[in-house]
Amino acid sequence: MIRHHSIGSDMTPLTAAAIHRIDRDHLWHPYSSLTEPLPTYLVRRARGCSLELDDGRTLVDGMSSWWCAIHGYNHPALNAAATAHLADMAHVMFGGIVHEPAARLAAHLVALTPPGLDKVFLCDSGSVSVEVAIKMALQYWQSLGQPRKQRLLALRGGYHGDTFAAMSVCDPVTGMHHLFAGAMSRQLFAEPPAGGLDAPWDPAWFNDIARQIEVHADELAAVILEPIVQGAGGMRFYPPAFLRGVRELCDRHGLLLIADEIATGFGRTGRLFACEWADISPDILCLGKALTGGYLTLAATLCTDALATGICAGSAGVFMHGPTYMGNPLACAVANASIELLLTSPWQQRIAAIEAQLRAELEPCRALAGVADVRVLGAIGVVEMKQPVDVAKLQAELVARGVWLRPFGKLVYTMPPYVMDAEELRCITAALGEVLAGY
Ligand SMILES: *Cc1c(COP(=O)(O)O)cnc(C)c1O
Repeated sequence: MIRHHSIGSDMTPLTAAAIHRIDRDHLWHPYSSLTEPLPTYLVRRARGCSLELDDGRTLVDGMSSWWCAIHGYNHPALNAAATAHLADMAHVMFGGIVHEPAARLAAHLVALTPPGLDKVFLCDSGSVSVEVAIKMALQYWQSLGQPRKQRLLALRGGYHGDTFAAMSVCDPVTGMHHLFAGAMSRQLFAEPPAGGLDAPWDPAWFNDIARQIEVHADELAAVILEPIVQGAGGMRFYPPAFLRGVRELCDRHGLLLIADEIATGFGRTGRLFACEWADISPDILCLGKALTGGYLTLAATLCTDALATGICAGSAGVFMHGPTYMGNPLACAVANASIELLLTSPWQQRIAAIEAQLRAELEPCRALAGVADVRVLGAIGVVEMKQPVDVAKLQAELVARGVWLRPFGKLVYTMPPYVMDAEELRCITAALGEVLAGY
C-alpha cells in the first residue's frame, strides 16, 4: 500500500529525495508507467537554452520543452509580461468579459496568419484547439443543412493530440486506435507523399487522397493535416505541392481544410507558418505550443468569416464551446510578448543558421550502421534509426554528455530554441554523433 506523504504546511522546499519519492509513488508522466517508471531528472532551474539539474549538472536543451520554448527559458521580456499582468488579473472569465491581452492577441493572430483567418477562438491546449476545429467543421455543415458531412480525412503518420476527437485523426497504427476503437469516431486516412520536402514531385502521391475524397465527399466534413511537417507521428517532411493540391481537392469537392500548426507555427520550419510554404490558407487553423514561448498553456483555433457566419446561422445560433479558462489574460499577455519578441528578433537568420548547422553536423550520422535517415528543416533536426531506441539508456548517455533530448520510437530529434548559439548546438550534434555510433 502506498503511504500518504504528508509534507506539512511549512514552506521549506522538498529535498531531492522527497521529490523523487513522491514522483515515483504518485505522479503520472506523459505516456508512462507507474509500475515500471522511466527515470526522471530533477530540474531546479531553466535559463536560456539550459536546464539545471538538482545535482549541479547543466544540460543543453535540444527539445524546447516540446516545441514551445522558442526564446529559451527565463526570458526577461516574457517574465516582465507575466509579472506585470499578474498584478492586473491572473484570470477572469471570458463569458461576457473581454480584456486587452485577448484583444491584442486576436489582432496579432489575424494579422500574422495566412489571409482569411479572421475569427479567433482561444482555448487551453493544442488538443482542445483540435477538438474546437473539428466541432467547428461539423457544426458548419450541420448549419448548412448537410448533416451527413460528419467524418474527417486525415493523413497517415499524423499527430493531432490525445483527446478523443484529436486521437481519432492521429495515425491509426501508431496512434491509440486499437485501445479505444469502441469509443472513437471512425475517420478516413490517406497516404502522405512518400518523398521529403525537396523530393521531385510525383503525381502518383495524390492518387490515394484524391480517390478517397472523390468517393467520400458527401460524408466528409474536412481534411485535417499538419502542413509540411508531420511531427509526433513520425517527424516527416513533405513537399508543398501536396499541400497545395489538397487545398484544391478540398475546394473542388466542398470540404473544409483544417491545418494543425500547433508544432510548426511561429517560425519553426523557417516560415512563420508552414502553410506559407505552399502559399495556401486553410479554413481552420490550430495554434498552440510556441504561442506563449513555452510559459503557459494556451492555444487558438482560427477560422474564416464564412465559416463563422455559417456556424452562427444554424439552429443553435452559436458555436457550442466555452472552456473555463478561455482567453486566460496572463497566458494571452505572455503570448503577446512572445510574438512581439519573435517579430522584432532576426528569427529568419537564426533559424537559417540553425538549419545550416544541423545539416552539416547531423549529416555524418547517416553513415552510422544503426541510422536509417537524417533530415533537417528549419530548426528541426531528425535522425531516424533502423530500430526503436531504448529511451532511458539513450537519454542517460546524452545527459552524461550534457544534452537533453527525448527520443521516441526510432526517432532521435532536436528542435532547439531559436536563440541557441552555435556552440550549444554543437554540443547536441556532437553528443548525438557519439552516442548513436553505439547503436
Ligand atoms: C502537440 C501537438 C498537439 C497537441 O497539443 P497539446 O497541447 O499537447 O494538447 C496537436 N497537434 C500537433 C501537431 C502537435 O504537435
